This record gives sequence, C-alpha cells and structure tokens, in this order.
Amino acid sequence: MTDSEHKSMQHKKRMQSVKEKVDQRIDDAQEERGLIIVITGNGKGKSTSGFGTVARAVGHGLNAAVVQFIKGTWACGERNLLENAGVSFAVMATGFTWNTQDKEQDIDAAQKVWQHSKELLKDDNIDVILLDELTYMLSFKYLDLDEVIDALKNRPINQHVIITGRACHRAIIELADTVSEVQSIKHAFDHGIKAQKGIDW
Ligand code: ATP
Ligand code: MG
Repeated sequence: MTDSEHKSMQHKKRMQSVKEKVDQRIDDAQEERGLIIVITGNGKGKSTSGFGTVARAVGHGLNAAVVQFIKGTWACGERNLLENAGVSFAVMATGFTWNTQDKEQDIDAAQKVWQHSKELLKDDNIDVILLDELTYMLSFKYLDLDEVIDALKNRPINQHVIITGRACHRAIIELADTVSEVQSIKHAFDHGIKAQKGIDW
C-alpha cells in the first residue's frame, strides 16, 4: 500500500467513526417539542437570526408572530417582507428609551406589548414567536421576570419562542433550550460607517 493509499484509508476510517457517532446522536434525539432559543451578546446578528428563523418556519407553512420590544427610528425590512407572508407584528409604541427619556411612558408601552405577547404565548395556533429585544425589558425592570418566566413555561407544548437582545437574564438562559452568544469582533459603525438599509435595518 502506498503512503497516499494508507492516508486515504485512515481518513475513511476516521470519517466512518464520526458518522457512526453522529448517526447515534440523531437516533437518540427523539423528543419533539417547542424550544426556547436565546440569541444574546454584543455582536451584530441577533435580530437577523431571529427573523431568519421566522422566515424558515414560514417557508414550511408554520404560523409565526413577531413582537418588537424596542422600536428604532427606522422601518424594518423584515416586517415589509414577513407581514406580506402572513406574520403578525406588534411593535412597542415608543422609540429607543434613550431617545424618549420618559420612563413611565416606556413602561406603559412595554406592558401593552407584553400583554399581547402573553396572548400569543397561550395561542396554540402560533407555532413560532419572536420576542425581539425582550432582554432589555427585563434589564430595565419594565417587565416582571417571574411573570415572563411563567408565561414561557406555560406556553403550548409545541410552540417555539426566540428571544433576542444583549445581556439576557440568567434565569431566561437557564430556562432556554438553545442559547447562542454573538460576539463582536468589529463593527462598521465603530469606523464611522452609518447604518445601511437592508443590512442594519
Ligand atoms: P441585527 O439586527 O443586525 O441582527 P442585532 O440585533 O444583533 O443586529 P442590536 O443590538 O439589536 O443588534 O442592534 C441593532 C442595530 O445596531 C443594528 O443596526 C446593528 O447593525 C447595530 N449593531 C449591532 N451590533 C453592533 C455593534 N457591536 N456595534 C455597533 N452597532 C451594532
Ligand atoms: Mg436586535
């Protein structure tokens, strides 16, 4: 056997062993139920990941709803697309809290959109809910943590929930099934480049 034949055989053996392990794990993963997915961290890509999952679900004919807890001053490209595909959107009525500087008004707006979220979290016709930027509502204490945990725990068994935002509360991380932290290596904004349509909003 030549050296290259030997290497090729060794590679095949290693790949076979990897395949067996992966197949075993696929066979073992039999449980089917709704998931809580958290996308947190300081890097760019949290909301786009949430919207991407909503698009994926809608592509399979699932029913999805989006709740946006912090509305920016810009329109949202995903909304233009997904509303046409039957996804309901609820958006907090105020802008960024550092723009409004009116805490009572922000709390009121957060509570209103949370009441709507609670209805969605009871509705077993909704397969996927994106709670975009929910984490800030808990950091600012605009919403009651126990109430949020309770609503998440008691949702329909097959309903998926995606939660995005920086600095996710550890109690939500503990409750979640899948948690990803997006790390910022660099961002165009730090180099003086303004937010770009279709990329940042
Ligand atoms: P995206 O909506 O692009 O997925 P995100 O949800 O991860 O971003 P947010 O913290 O919600 O990030 O911020 C929304 C806006 O801020 C976006 O325009 C995004 O490009 C920008 N942004 C995200 N991360 C950073 C960062 N590390 N530095 C500067 N701007 C950022
Ligand atoms: Mg975001």
